[in-house]
Amino acid sequence: MIYLDCAATTFQKPPAVMEAIRRASEMCASPGRGGYGLSLAADELLFKTRGLAKEMFSLSDEKYCIFTKSATEALNIAIKGFTQPEDEVVISCLEHNAVVRPLASGGRRIKIANFPPECPEDAVIALERSITRRTRLCVCTAVSNVFGTMLPIREIGEICRRRGIPFVVDAAQAAGILELSVERIGADALCIPGHKGLYGPAGTGLLLLSGERIPRTLIEGGTGSHSASERQPQHLPDAFEAGTQNIWGIAGLCAGIEFVKSHPKGEILSAEQALCRRILDNLPAGYTAPGRGRDENQTGVLALLPVFAGCEEVAEFLSDAGICVRAGLCCAPLAHRAAHTFETGVLRISPGIFNTAADADALLRALSAARDALGG
Ligand code: PLP
Repeated sequence: MIYLDCAATTFQKPPAVMEAIRRASEMCASPGRGGYGLSLAADELLFKTRGLAKEMFSLSDEKYCIFTKSATEALNIAIKGFTQPEDEVVISCLEHNAVVRPLASGGRRIKIANFPPECPEDAVIALERSITRRTRLCVCTAVSNVFGTMLPIREIGEICRRRGIPFVVDAAQAAGILELSVERIGADALCIPGHKGLYGPAGTGLLLLSGERIPRTLIEGGTGSHSASERQPQHLPDAFEAGTQNIWGIAGLCAGIEFVKSHPKGEILSAEQALCRRILDNLPAGYTAPGRGRDENQTGVLALLPVFAGCEEVAEFLSDAGICVRAGLCCAPLAHRAAHTFETGVLRISPGIFNTAADADALLRALSAARDALGG
């Protein structure tokens, strides 16, 4: 089996991640809930993981690392915490439904900043033009999950700072791959899955904050602190961490972050980019690469469009050949409208650190075979 769907989740995990989950299942109970060894071990694990996140994403304090179950949950906390129903929110045209749906559910007014995905530098001016006096929040992805486009989030953060608008960054496709610093980006919140580029298990995510600016909580409940009060504690991280933590998952995430940190800066990105370049350089006839810009603006996510058959049909052919890729709209209909692929979707190839040149070559052979079998 060749797995090339790391933009959905990194299926292959480092052995240390699996081992950390096993160890946590033997050594950790509920954190913050007891003075006995099993609970204290869980506290220690949370503290260590927050410390790693602080270092990797330049947080000013461990308390600004909030554990969530996914990037989606982190985005919901940030979006609904910063805005009220009917507020105006500016987003980029490459946003995932994890951004669009929480905004739409409360009847917020969504202003979409449009630009061609192959020209991410145009995002800055498009977002700036979309901001009005009524804008209460700006949300932007760091990398498109469909096209692998890197967006200039530092420049966008700068505009938001100048205009006094909170800035939430969806870093689902960037964390673990790009250097991200909450401080340098000027983000109020960075929303991260644990199970993609950080190589942790499913059911983990992080909400990283630059300060105590989110005015309201999304979920309230037990925190193990201020138990006599019926009000949610206001201090971080407790304010946003109601309920028992996914301690086994966090143990795996902790090991995943250590795994990413063990690679020299930029190595994972370069390896994934090189595989995409290899695929593009040898792409068989019958496929195009919509939405793709200059190499320096692209991560290791590659969107292909077969011209001879539907994307789902080709993905099924690849699946029968033992190759896992994603087909369709990839939960990002806006991005497809921007790239004119809304009617077709794309075939998304997203390698990870465990993929090799041999995997890319096997994919290329299977793409040729798919064209020969389905194109006639
Ligand atoms: N944002 C983007 C850009 C994504 O690609 C994804 C997942 O595919 C998400 C958000 C949601 O991440 P999660 O599955 O951790 O909720």
